[in-house]
Parts: sequence; structure tokens; C-alpha cells
Amino acid sequence: MRYRSIGRRHLSQLPQVRHLDPEQRLTLEAVSAVLPFKVNRYVVDELIDWDDIPHDPIYQLTFPQAGMLDPGDLERMRALVAANAPEDVVRCAAREIQARMNPHPAGQRKLNVPTVDGRRLEGSQHKYRETVLFFPSQGQTCHAYCTYCFRWAQFVGVQELRFASGEMRTLVEYLERHPEVTDVLFTGGDPMVMGAAILRRYIEPLLSARLEHVRSIRIGTKALSYWPYRFLTDSDADDLLRLFEEVTEAGKQLAFMAHFSHPRELGTAAVERAVRRVRGTGAVIRCQAPLVRHVNADAGVWARMWQRQVELGMVPYYMFVERDTGPKEYFKVSLARAYAIFSEAYSRVSGLARTVRGPSMSATPGKVLVDGITEIGGEKLFVLKFLQGRDPAWTNRIFFARFDRAAAWLDDLEPAGGETEFFFEPYLRAMEEGRWRPSWQHDRGEPAPADPAEEEVAAATGFSEAG
Ligand SMILES: *Cc1c(COP(=O)(O)O)cnc(C)c1O
Repeated sequence: MRYRSIGRRHLSQLPQVRHLDPEQRLTLEAVSAVLPFKVNRYVVDELIDWDDIPHDPIYQLTFPQAGMLDPGDLERMRALVAANAPEDVVRCAAREIQARMNPHPAGQRKLNVPTVDGRRLEGSQHKYRETVLFFPSQGQTCHAYCTYCFRWAQFVGVQELRFASGEMRTLVEYLERHPEVTDVLFTGGDPMVMGAAILRRYIEPLLSARLEHVRSIRIGTKALSYWPYRFLTDSDADDLLRLFEEVTEAGKQLAFMAHFSHPRELGTAAVERAVRRVRGTGAVIRCQAPLVRHVNADAGVWARMWQRQVELGMVPYYMFVERDTGPKEYFKVSLARAYAIFSEAYSRVSGLARTVRGPSMSATPGKVLVDGITEIGGEKLFVLKFLQGRDPAWTNRIFFARFDRAAAWLDDLEPAGGETEFFFEPYLRAMEEGRWRPSWQHDRGEPAPADPAEEEVAAATGFSEAG
């Protein structure tokens, strides 16, 4: 099997698509002009059940759906495509719709970019003390695109795929000065679209003696789901696995963060063989995915998926809440329902699969777990908990929000017990205004700024405990 991507321009080459009715084909073309679309023959031939269109979960996962656009926008795009409008007219209409779909959620670009001597380290994020995220420039695409992808905006923009040689040097410099960092997480896109030789240029520098404190190299990828041949028959598959082995031999963990959305993705001979080969290098495969309507919003699906992951020697890790971006209305699951699905699935598997945590929101203040729904003093509440916080002091801290049946994201929630805001909100405000950073982000020797929560109380009351 040789990899070849199939995009909007190649839709009519797929025999399965040629068999769809003309209305469905028109919708495919219209929606894929606005939102990213890419598949390959493995996804089309081995994962999708074409007798169950449009309900098939992998079809929903990879092919654009009518419900992903507002009805008005859909009609406008369908009309343009049906009239064979010039490509720049189609693109212009698409841009306008994209701009209304919250393309850059959760303050990603502004708040999390690390610096070395005032130089911004573009292509990376450092939000939680232990882990630096790195987006290698050649790894910013995928073997196929998920319809619900929260990074969808980058796939409809213009791609720039060149090796910025300074990129890795600056990252190493940053890491040398940050002994608190134990993990470097390569993400994208999908770093597994890179050739082994290029990936080696990113990974080898992290094995140097000066970066002894970097203990785990993580790779966030959906290649096991969308292109398991990456580890089997691609021309550099053996080189890639050899590189994983070298990480293990250096005494570090190669943490393979696999994105699996549905047990169907674990059911082919190719994926089983690929999992065995990756595990054979000493890498540990952890599995995570968002909970998404039309794809996996079902307790049985998650229970079967976690069970199968354990059988294949993988570790269930996170169930995420789908982010508030792109076609969120089509895919969203309320927090109450997410909690019910998680709890039901969790109750159906043994402790071996209960390494998974969720449902978890990767929100601006941190990773927030919906840990329960309860009642205190007659008030129905969500019990929430920080799995990760911008300030490590927030980790494992619980807090409460008023129960709201429709809420689907942290921003939809109100604090419980008559509070006017959540405890972390003064800190986030101060951070956005440049008045505060968590203590681990201070350069050594720099005095820590005043606590913004106490400062705001002092300003409001004219009274400060510190005097
Ligand atoms: C999830 C995430 C991490 C990793 O968190 P773990 O809980 O250690 O897996 C790191 N950085 C960001 C920005 C994240 O969203």
C-alpha cells in the first residue's frame, strides 16, 4: 500500500462516492470548500462501511456533512458549486463563513508562546509546567482530516512546509534554561507525516546529555487509525521504528499519544500489526479522543474501544470534550451527557481500562474534568476538577458550577454557591493584562508579582491584609 491523499478535487474518482446520489455529492463538494477534507484509500476502503451512509461513524468522522454548516451558508455554497462558480468566488465565500466559526479558540496563540531572551519561540506552546508542545513545520498536516478537528483553521490556510533550521536550535536553548520541563510533545497536524530522517533531526537533539531533565518524548498522532502502513510498508517504516528504539535506549520514554475515536479503527489486520511493531520498540501507546456526536457519543462504543485498547497492550488516557470551534453545533455533546456516557462506559470495563480520565475540557485556565453531578444544600451542581492548571497549584483542586443541562463548555458555566466568578478568573484576567504569570514562569531572581486575587480584593475594599 502506498500513501496517496484524496481531497476535494478527487472526490469523483472514488467509486464509493460516484454511487452516492447527486444531492449528496453536491453537499460534499459544498461543505468541503469551507472545511478541511482529506482521506486516503485505507480510510475509504477498510474503515468506512459504505452500506451505512450517512450514519457510518467513520464516514461522519472524515467526510463533510450538511449539518456542519448553517442552513443558509450551506445553501449559498451549494448554489455556487452547482453553478460552477469560479474557484476564487467559492474561496471568497468560504473565507467569510470560516471567519464566523471561532477559528482560534482558547487564547492559544497569545498566552502560551514561550520566549528566549525576548525572542518568541513560534511553533511551540508552554502552558503547563512539565510539558512543552512543539509543532514541527513539516508535521502540520495529517494522513486524513477529522471533520471535528479543533485545529481545522490551519488546514484551510496556506501551508508553508519548509525546514526552519533555527526552529530546533531555539527549542533546545529554551529547554536548557527550563529544567522544570520533563516532557516534549510533538504535535500538529500529525508529526507522523514527516519522513523518519526529518523526524530524527527533531528528536536526536533531545537525547543530548544537556537535556537530561527531558524524560519523555511524546508524539501526538492519528497515524495508527488513518494510515497504519506508516509503521509497516512505508519506505522508511523501519528507520522510524529504529528512531523510537533509540529514545528507549537513551533511558527515556517514547510516549505515543494515539488518537482513536471509534473501535472500528482498532479492527483491521493492519492496525494490529502496526500496534505490535510500535510497542516492540519499547514505546508506550496511550489513547485519547474527543467525545463527538454522530461518531462516538455512546457508552458501548467507548467501553468496547477501551477494552480493545487494553487487549492490544495500549493504555486508555483521556476522553475530551469537543472544543468550541468550527462545526461545534453539529458535533457537540452537553457536559451532562458527556459525564453520563463516560460513567456508563467506565462502569462496564475492568480496572485495567480505568486509567482513562474524562470527560476533560482543554480550556483557557487548564484541563478541567467533569468529575461529578451532585446536590449540595438543595442546589444541583457540577463537580469540576483541574487535571492541569496554568498554575500547578490548581492541580487536583475541585470547584463547583451550577448545573446546566445544556452547557457544553466551561464558558457556559456559572459558579455555584452565590460566587460571582470562579477562583481562577482574577488570575486569567491579570495574565491577559500582563500583570501576573504563574510562579514557574518567572526568571530566577525576579520578584514574584502580587497575587491578583488579593490585589483585586484590596482595590475593591481599600483594605489589604499585608498592610
Ligand atoms: C493536554 C496538554 C498537555 C499534556 O497534559 P498531560 O495531562 O500531561 O497529558 C500539555 N500541554 C497542553 C497545552 C495540553 O493541552
